[in-house]
Amino acid sequence: MTKQKLLIKKIIESANGHLTAEEIYQLAKAQMPHIALGTVYRNLGKLCEANEIGLISVSGKPDHYDKSVIAHGHLICDSCGKIVDFHLEDIKDRVEKLLDVEVISYDFNAHYVCDDCK
Ligand SMILES: [Zn+2]
Ligand SMILES: [Zn+2]
Repeated sequence: MTKQKLLIKKIIESANGHLTAEEIYQLAKAQMPHIALGTVYRNLGKLCEANEIGLISVSGKPDHYDKSVIAHGHLICDSCGKIVDFHLEDIKDRVEKLLDVEVISYDFNAHYVCDDCK
């Protein structure tokens, strides 16, 4: 693993919540001033592909990266974009049985408006 990739992985693992690529870039730059935004994106892509980090895509909002790759749901405020984890039973087996396919991964995003935004 390259120095850059290791640093990016560490940043995500020590984060309290979910970070965007831009936030990860800012944190990486503080420790490695010459790192480029493109390098951050490239390494995030590789880490996602290797299933070492999770990706949360919300339409109209920047992607967020997640240290947890264990199946869990995300509660997303449609107003401020805040993302909160919640745990639910793994529905992979049920979906596989229902559709008779092999599910690689799934996302469970629940949208709401948080108390701060109400
Ligand atoms: Zn909100
Ligand atoms: Zn999460």
